[in-house]
Amino acid sequence: MNKWNRISAAIDEMKEQKLYRTMTAFESPQMSKVTVDNQTYRLFASNSYLDLCNDKDIVQAAKEALEQYGVGSGGSRLTTGTASPHVELERTIARFKHREAALCYNTGYMANVGIISALVGKEDVIYSDELNHASIIDGARLSKAKIVIYKHNDFVDLEEKIKANQGQYGMIVSDAVFSMDGDIVDLPKLVALAKKYDLLSMVDEAHSTGVIGESGRGVEEYFDMTGEVDVLMGTLSKAVGVEGGFVCGNKLLIDYLVNKSRSFIFSTAFSPAMAAAANAGFQKIENNPQLVRKLQDNIKYFCNCLNEVGIFINSETAIIPIVIGEESAAMKIMDKLRESAYYISAIRYPTVARNSARLRVALMSSHTHEELSMLAMKLGELLKESKNEQ
Ligand SMILES: *Cc1c(COP(=O)(O)O)cnc(C)c1O
Repeated sequence: MNKWNRISAAIDEMKEQKLYRTMTAFESPQMSKVTVDNQTYRLFASNSYLDLCNDKDIVQAAKEALEQYGVGSGGSRLTTGTASPHVELERTIARFKHREAALCYNTGYMANVGIISALVGKEDVIYSDELNHASIIDGARLSKAKIVIYKHNDFVDLEEKIKANQGQYGMIVSDAVFSMDGDIVDLPKLVALAKKYDLLSMVDEAHSTGVIGESGRGVEEYFDMTGEVDVLMGTLSKAVGVEGGFVCGNKLLIDYLVNKSRSFIFSTAFSPAMAAAANAGFQKIENNPQLVRKLQDNIKYFCNCLNEVGIFINSETAIIPIVIGEESAAMKIMDKLRESAYYISAIRYPTVARNSARLRVALMSSHTHEELSMLAMKLGELLKESKNEQ
């Protein structure tokens, strides 16, 4: 018996099932056109929905903060790692989301893991949508609470499950926009159940911040329910164009997390320069409402183009999933798109269920109508071809 056998066998198995994954290095900033291996591609796979990763004002804010604060933060937030840009960023987030207070984490992943495991423990219950992001699942596992999975966006199912555990302290947690399906949580129902059964409500705004709601403030603005969610979590790494995670809510919540949330406490703070950049990212969104409008217009336009070529999808978010099914078929279409200079990701198990592999088209505010209609035509062609082969 060799201790490496099990590891190499696992890799062989992934390769056999077409589930083996590798990384691609981009040679350009993340924008609507990117360079990979000296080739230019049109990018329809990025989470940078407002195309802010290389925005000149945001880059400038990072440069100025680098000059003023240097590179590293030098400590965790509760020791020496909090610099003025962290504090300013948290004020901006609280204002942007209409909350009393906000707290940043190094990544969105760390935010979910740290928030959930601090708020509930082994006597408690977490009600979690079956399609929630992996970071929510990991946070729930780490908390040792009882995890009750409810059917996707199904609040009749959820209520039955709550009744079976009635009286126990707990939380309901959901993605605001589901990361691989692009649909939106039924927030009025989620909040109503949380109130009725005195549970904490928590929503992950990774893909809704900067995307939905008239001014891009996210799921509460979309449903005209500002201030209704107890624990509003989000990322700085998607539409905001930088990196990091955040949570906002009332002062009591933030005060508690500062003192109890282990992924916040036991990790060196992200760079002040990145905090300054994220702050500039939010200001960009607040001061340029046409960015969010353009993204929302692109979403409508692209869905119309898809309908015209026989692909019937109606997304209201920047995530447009085109479900293919078999992993190898999805990979084949992705490769053909790559040959036509389109960079689009095929998403496979374990990110989505087996045999529900999909192309995950992600739109940006900077895509032009012409680019969108050409892509829709190409997708129409390739899907037809793929069906004929099966
Ligand atoms: C991306 C994502 C996260 C993690 O955020 P990072 O900043 O990338 O760590 C959390 N939740 C959801 C729904 C996400 O899509």
